[in-house]
Amino acid sequence: MREIDVKLITEKVRDLCIQANTDLGEDVLRAFDRAIKQEESPVAIDILKELKENARIAKEEKVPICQDTGFAVVFVDLGQDVHLVGGNLKEAIAEGVRQGYRDGYLRKSVCHPFTRANTGDNTPAIIHTEVVQGDQIKITVAPKGAGSENMSRVVMLTPSEGIEGIKRYVVQRVKESGSNPCPPTIVGVGIGGTMEQAALLAKKSLLRPLGSSNSVPELDRLESEILTEINRLGIGPQGLGGRTTSLAVQILMMPCHIASLPLAVNIQCHVQRHKEAVI
Ligand code: SF4
Repeated sequence: MREIDVKLITEKVRDLCIQANTDLGEDVLRAFDRAIKQEESPVAIDILKELKENARIAKEEKVPICQDTGFAVVFVDLGQDVHLVGGNLKEAIAEGVRQGYRDGYLRKSVCHPFTRANTGDNTPAIIHTEVVQGDQIKITVAPKGAGSENMSRVVMLTPSEGIEGIKRYVVQRVKESGSNPCPPTIVGVGIGGTMEQAALLAKKSLLRPLGSSNSVPELDRLESEILTEINRLGIGPQGLGGRTTSLAVQILMMPCHIASLPLAVNIQCHVQRHKEAVI
């Protein structure tokens, strides 16, 4: 058993909250470059260049990439040979979020659903913990803005709707979302499991680096077919027209019940931010 003090988790979560909100990944910047080469609309090209410039300024000046600094979604891969000491995991993560949003001057965006009273420190965090082999902890912080989250959906298709039904639904969801999720977007898709598991698969699919292939050939093909259809919609960057409505479609799938076909679409805006650390 390896002992890890939860204080270390708090420190990492604090840093990751700030890094994720100020330092857009190289994979996203490269995806902007690819889109600029493929675009035909001068307005779309200008917007994509502005998004790159915005990311550059955020990184250099350590300011948030967007005013919506998101709900702190935290994925924890907890090694089964780890013994946590010095406190409890949930509170250690909450404290990290508190410190990160305070020290990074990040907007606190979490409130009571009815009164809309702000919790004041961007907690609680949304924590997804998975117990894995080994004696390490991997923590991924993925702040999620509401503009794109609000456009996300879970639907229980009938099995007979099949792959064509999935394609139709995902493309329609992006079409109906229009400019609301601040395109160009990344479309996370979860297929199978149960209702809540499909949503989690869709969210997890967004952690895959942009530009990488799906390890399942069947899903890789499906991703490019859906992306082609989406980019024929003409919504374009910021909804002002163009070929680049989405930068990628990313799918995770697992078996489902014989009587159902759960499908989740988690739309992510161009501020595709997540950072990870291993302890
Ligand atoms: S959807 Fe993304 S880019 Fe748009 S306001 Fe929200 S976080 Fe910012």
